[in-house]
Amino acid sequence: MLRPFTLHRPETAEEACALLAGLGEEAAAYAGGTELLLMMKLGLLRPRHLVDVKRIRGFGDIGLEPLSGRRLTIGAAVTHRAVEQSALVRARCPLVSSVARHVANVRVRNVGTVGGNLAFADPHSDLATLFLTLDASVELLSPRGRRELPLDDFVRGPWETSRASDELLGSVTLTPWASDTAAAYVKFGVHERPTLAVAAALRLDGTTGAGRNGRDRIVEARVAVGCVSLKPVRMAAAEARLTDLSIGDLDDAARAAADAAAAGVDPADDLYGSADYKREMVAVFVGRALRIAAARARGAESAARFPHTVVA
Ligand SMILES: Cc1cc2nc3c(=O)[nH]c(=O)nc-3n(C[C@H](O)[C@H](O)[C@H](O)COP(=O)(O)OP(=O)(O)OC[C@H]3O[C@@H](n4cnc5c(N)ncnc54)[C@H](O)[C@@H]3O)c2cc1C
Repeated sequence: MLRPFTLHRPETAEEACALLAGLGEEAAAYAGGTELLLMMKLGLLRPRHLVDVKRIRGFGDIGLEPLSGRRLTIGAAVTHRAVEQSALVRARCPLVSSVARHVANVRVRNVGTVGGNLAFADPHSDLATLFLTLDASVELLSPRGRRELPLDDFVRGPWETSRASDELLGSVTLTPWASDTAAAYVKFGVHERPTLAVAAALRLDGTTGAGRNGRDRIVEARVAVGCVSLKPVRMAAAEARLTDLSIGDLDDAARAAADAAAAGVDPADDLYGSADYKREMVAVFVGRALRIAAARARGAESAARFPHTVVA
């Protein structure tokens, strides 16, 4: 049962931060409530004050960062559904749109927000995993001002971030990949949240004509694995095995990269499976994501379908 609380509905970030600072431990930021209200019903969190962030000016916006004109900024109170439907997101970061369509279920997507997802830091987050390959940074606002942190520094571990109690997550900014990048996102799960998620992006040199002769060089590879370690991680050793290769030689390299990724994760036994099982699955799914990305680079889409697996 929910204990009584007072709902505050500030319209500016300054007001909201002042409320959080003044109310201290008694208050929590409240966006879609899909995590927060659940925790409150279970009695795991007992805030007496909820500070609703959905009316704060700018928190519901999606736009290009004014400074670069290229990076994509998504306000903290933007819902998964709005991300999925945004023409700007689809144009600049198409894989983010496709992944948004596969977050949770339609009920959660309609109210759950990007900021709530990142601030909650559930290790089974699709967004945190994918955003690592887009060099994401988050904006934190407090009575002391504004700071920006790389997403990797913001998420510290399971349900733990670098956010101070009087700070609000204002937005996340993504760096779109170059246009000659082929990518794939693959997730597997039997529970509500993914058991394993892999994002892979391959940037080609483009000089030999992607997809025509299979000789394009991979000039940059990005691989992130989520859900199995304490937080989502970029797999530097796997990426190094893919860089400077011809896309035509990807099959052998994908196997080596998948093994490197499996060696690089730090899984634990839990309800989602044993550590050994997860390590094995990382090898399978990193290989799968890389092969799908490579097929897309050649202009093909694999028709293969796997049980409990989402390909975006
Ligand atoms: C059934 C179910 C299935 C799910 N499946 C998936 C899935 O497949 N993939 C996936 O990635 N996620 C999944 N999720 C997680 C879902 O994406 C999040 O629940 C949602 O995005 C959280 O957003 P919210 O707005 O509801 O957050 P809230 O519940 O409002 O808040 C969550 C936490 O973040 C804090 N917070 C919220 N906004 C801010 C802010 N602006 N600044 C600072 N702190 C803030 C709150 O105080 C709270 O601690 C699932 C959740 C459920 C319930």
